[in-house]
Amino acid sequence: MVKTRFAPSPTGHLHLGHAYAALVAARLGDGYLLRIDDIDHTRCRPAFTDQIFDDLQWLGLQWHGPVIYQSQRLDAYDAALAKLRAADLVYPCYLSRAELGDFLAAPHTNNAGAPAPRTHNALSQQETDQRIAAGMQPAWRLHADKAIDYLAAAGTKPQWLDAASGNHIDASLTAFGDVVLGRKDIGTSYHLSVVIDDAMDRVSLVTRGDDLRDSTHVHAILQALLDLPSPAYLHHPLVNDAAGNRLAKRDDARSIVSLREDGISAQEIIDSLPDIPALPISH
Ligand code: GLU
Repeated sequence: MVKTRFAPSPTGHLHLGHAYAALVAARLGDGYLLRIDDIDHTRCRPAFTDQIFDDLQWLGLQWHGPVIYQSQRLDAYDAALAKLRAADLVYPCYLSRAELGDFLAAPHTNNAGAPAPRTHNALSQQETDQRIAAGMQPAWRLHADKAIDYLAAAGTKPQWLDAASGNHIDASLTAFGDVVLGRKDIGTSYHLSVVIDDAMDRVSLVTRGDDLRDSTHVHAILQALLDLPSPAYLHHPLVNDAAGNRLAKRDDARSIVSLREDGISAQEIIDSLPDIPALPISH
């Protein structure tokens, strides 16, 4: 029984790329779960969620079971972050956005181009205390070096199973650095939430776009740190527009809604999508 999921964020209309992601989840799973990734209350809109249901049903891609909402699982994400705090694997980062930019640009910080900077030494204790006293909320960052040491001491080598090749890939944080697990505005993050969800929902095959391949390394490491099962991962190609550019939410002309309005049928949309990747392994 292969359990997959389609997990859109309701921050805009679904486009052809989403239709393809949903189709891959539906075809490779024995029924797929629909999860609404709505932790970011600053950007998510209920009207987009309703449109997601409507578009998927119109496409003939009916999901299985009740819809899952990340916004209803904030306690579970908090508990996971508390566990990492108790193990001293995360640290609070009190830098403002502007300070982070300066920090990344400074040569001495040794961030080696990682998108998530290592900021544990960025502020003095006095500056940190002042910010705590002023009631500032921190972002919680994974301490990548400590996490690696922790796993090595436990004799754990985090890996993820690449369903496309059948290979086990060593998970590395080198490309990421000290990734944010708890954002100051919402208390959790994309990475932490999806790892908890996939475990709670017993997803056995995560299907998602190639653009999230690097994130899979972070997720495998979090699974090892939190003692969670690791599903297999299939990263499918991204759908490009006619000019070969990646589709983005801002290209609203390509939304499923607008294609529907233009009189295109669901079958024509499905037929226009790339082939479903073949899986060499069973799960
Ligand atoms: N919610 C994410 C997105 O909209 C996908 C989550 C995932 O596949 O891990 O891209």
